[in-house]
Amino acid sequence: MKNETDARLRARAARVIPGGMYGHQSVTKLPAGFPQFFAKAEGTYLWDSDGNKYLDFMCGYGPNLFGYGRPEIDAAFTQQAKRIDTATGPSEVMVELAEKFTRQIMHADWAMFCKNGTDATSMALMIARAYRGRKKILLAKGAYHGSAPWCTPMPAGTVPDDRNHFIYYSYNDVNSLELAIDEAGDDLAGVFASPFKHDVIVDQEMPSPDYARRARDLCDKNDALLIIDDVRAGFRLTRDSSWSSLSIAPDLSCWGKSIANGHPISALLGSEKAKEAAGQIYATGSFWFSAAPMAASIATLKLIEETDYLERTIELAEEMRSGLTEISQRHNVPLNQTGPAQMPLITIPDAEGKADLEKGYAFSSEMIRRGVYFHPWHNMFMNAAMTKDDISQTLDAADASLAAVKDTIVAKP
Ligand code: PMP
Repeated sequence: MKNETDARLRARAARVIPGGMYGHQSVTKLPAGFPQFFAKAEGTYLWDSDGNKYLDFMCGYGPNLFGYGRPEIDAAFTQQAKRIDTATGPSEVMVELAEKFTRQIMHADWAMFCKNGTDATSMALMIARAYRGRKKILLAKGAYHGSAPWCTPMPAGTVPDDRNHFIYYSYNDVNSLELAIDEAGDDLAGVFASPFKHDVIVDQEMPSPDYARRARDLCDKNDALLIIDDVRAGFRLTRDSSWSSLSIAPDLSCWGKSIANGHPISALLGSEKAKEAAGQIYATGSFWFSAAPMAASIATLKLIEETDYLERTIELAEEMRSGLTEISQRHNVPLNQTGPAQMPLITIPDAEGKADLEKGYAFSSEMIRRGVYFHPWHNMFMNAAMTKDDISQTLDAADASLAAVKDTIVAKP
């Protein structure tokens, strides 16, 4: 595989971009064969800057829901951009988008728009505190809610005081949730929950109905706000907020990534109860009112409402999951496939059942050599542009890749 252009770009980047690249899109924590720079994206495919083509199972870390460059969505964006986009004030599309969200998402009575998932989660945090003037916020240990000082998983540049009023509980553990609520006492402002446990490296877990119900009940009992962070999983499990399948409505839900199929916009949705507090916080950004991504989001919500994208994606995802199970059994190489099939985390377990990163690297290196972008330690994403042929290509690649790494894997304890 060619990589000369990528190597040249990395050398240039190292001089002018801190660390050569930063955050989750830096490939420093991926095997050597993973390209850093890309030149083209279309449907479910990516081309790196050397022209190598990949079947992409990361979907931009979530934004690609309908395929890169879905024509209706991009046309809505371009047409709006020609009229007005970022300007001195918002456009009609903002009201239209808020109306559409509040019609499609059951718990939502209002919407605010921003750019990144972190904007939405940080606004949710402020609104929860503004709601009754309380300080304590509950977070599940290891859950990702963004890159601001209050939630970044990396300590550099933060001080312990940034976390002063956070209490950590274990996801799906009712007892630990109750203890954290007790600790917050009468200063409880809100409880954050991910739609399912989708932390990196460790097996994903669906929410237990007991835990989700208890979180709702305890927020009600304490007059605190329940916040679902749907930034990553939004519209990938259901067409409504993700705990609707458990009949649980949050007070606030955070959205981003997929809501405009890759155009830059995120959203915070809320119920009537939280509306006054939402109106009190100071929230703004130079690009938060841009009209073109809003038009793209309206077109995306229309496809979410009117097409069978979700059922088709899940069907293919389940086909892939059972195909991989068969291949792993045949090669006698265990694979842990956890979480919803359409957002799978796929790792190779060690003797204790925990992800063995070295083995995972070996497997994903073989996959990428065969043109399939599989991530070794982050959950992946399927999109509605994928076809049965893409799945068989993936399964063929997995078959050959597991055969290639089998000796190393079986030989190593
Ligand atoms: N919450 C969750 C669950 C996420 O997965 C992410 C991004 N990976 C964020 C919040 C932050 O979103 P962003 O990177 O757009 O700020």
